[in-house]
Amino acid sequence: MSHLVDTFGRVHDNLRISVTDRCNIRCYYCMPEHATDFQPRSEILTFEEVERFVRVAVGLGVKKIRLTGGEPLLRRDLPVLVEKLAAVPGIRDIALTTNGVLLEGLAKPLYDAGLRRINVHLDTLDRERFRQITRRDDLDKVLRGIDACQELGYGPIKINTVAVKNLIEPDIVPLARFGRERGIEIRYIEFMPLDSQSLWDLNRVLLMDDMIAMLTREIGPLEAIPDQDPRAPATEFRFLDGVGSVGFVASVSKPFCLNCNRIRLTADGHFRYCLFAIEEMNVKAMIRGGASDAEIAEAVQANVRAKWIGHQINSAQFVPPPRPMYAIGG
Ligand code: SF4
Repeated sequence: MSHLVDTFGRVHDNLRISVTDRCNIRCYYCMPEHATDFQPRSEILTFEEVERFVRVAVGLGVKKIRLTGGEPLLRRDLPVLVEKLAAVPGIRDIALTTNGVLLEGLAKPLYDAGLRRINVHLDTLDRERFRQITRRDDLDKVLRGIDACQELGYGPIKINTVAVKNLIEPDIVPLARFGRERGIEIRYIEFMPLDSQSLWDLNRVLLMDDMIAMLTREIGPLEAIPDQDPRAPATEFRFLDGVGSVGFVASVSKPFCLNCNRIRLTADGHFRYCLFAIEEMNVKAMIRGGASDAEIAEAVQANVRAKWIGHQINSAQFVPPPRPMYAIGG
């Protein structure tokens, strides 16, 4: 089995697959209220095309899959895709990131299809603030979705919270308390320049160290969990009182690109070696153009070999990617 190794020696075995660019909420730091630039259905990869690409990727050493969006639960019959991918020999782990609005109704079919790991994007437990951030009134649905996953035995369940400064501060501690009570890890993700309205600014990023200080002051001391996988995007901490843990994806303040093992496939079939990549490779055109698995594998390997050292968020040369987050997938 050949592997996806770049010129920095990084081995890529974690494939993130976006299954749609559409979403049923409108987080103001991600998508405009009246977003319309979604891909037509004909441009979205079919389940068979996704499965074929995954088989090629497994041949190149991919072991882990994360399904994302937009909002992946909007994709009809998603449990069918999960079942197909869970059956691909060599795939050891399938996870999903969702906003949880449709989760209550799909938790069981997805579980029966083989899904076990889930991240729910939730920035607040306050109904009014949820409405302010997402421009939808769906907090209750999200919480019922989390309940359903806990009842079914999903694990681990994590909550992803986008840490936007001057917005999320009142929620940092209540979310951590919720996680401690429910045995759910809260993942605070530093706000990244991937929004479609260029709202991002370094001064709008709530930094990992600031959040640690807040949690330590309000709840109690934290310590880094030892022996963490250096390739994992989040740095995990546990409370010294033994109750619960939190994680920080500190892409801005503590970039972790030198250990990156992630590659991406967009819903419309473009391969990206990095979340912030400027160039991308059109896998869909190869698949629909009659390319063989070997030709696709070779093209993917060549693309990864050309992978840059990492994002340039903190440099004056930084250029945002040509696609917003919802058209790439988390
Ligand atoms: S920014 Fe790109 S290189 Fe860095 S960790 Fe994310 S995907 Fe990997």
